[in-house]
Amino acid sequence: MCSASTLAISCPEHARLETEFQEARDRMRNLMRLRRLTRSEERQLADKVAMAIARLKEHLAEHRCQRW
Ligand SMILES: [Zn+2]
Repeated sequence: MCSASTLAISCPEHARLETEFQEARDRMRNLMRLRRLTRSEERQLADKVAMAIARLKEHLAEHRCQRW
């Protein structure tokens, strides 16, 4: 799903959303590595990642600035 083509992104909004998604995902991974998360913590973090993906997809659908 995730490509190495982030360098090719020319749309700043797309780049921002992509960064947001990656940060949310990394945060979840790091926290999970550090300690056991409670169910609600895990769900919150997963929700943020899912929301970031949804926003990114929405942007792609509307804007068509970059295909995955
Ligand atoms: Zn765009």
